[in-house]
Amino acid sequence: MNIKQVIEKYADNPSKLTARTFTESGEIKETFVLFEGGADALRFLGEAILAFADSDSGCNWDIHPQGAGNIYFDNDSTVGIYLHKLPCDLHADHKIR
Ligand SMILES: [Zn+2]
Repeated sequence: MNIKQVIEKYADNPSKLTARTFTESGEIKETFVLFEGGADALRFLGEAILAFADSDSGCNWDIHPQGAGNIYFDNDSTVGIYLHKLPCDLHADHKIR
């Protein structure tokens, strides 16, 4: 399944993904990226990553709760998802930022 097919497969699915960060403060401060949701929300993320990894249509793919792809996110989401596949000839030093 390519990424377009994954997008279409889950477009109307009521299971939404929450994407946000949180920090556990202890002796060592640990920051996490949380991807939370029902089974289908997590399947969407997993299948999107797999489809992107196997595609040859560019080095990057992203969705954001306030931008393109917002229909896949729950309202509690505060961060988007940005995938970048290496090696890449488009971005200097192979870095997005
Ligand atoms: Zn790139």
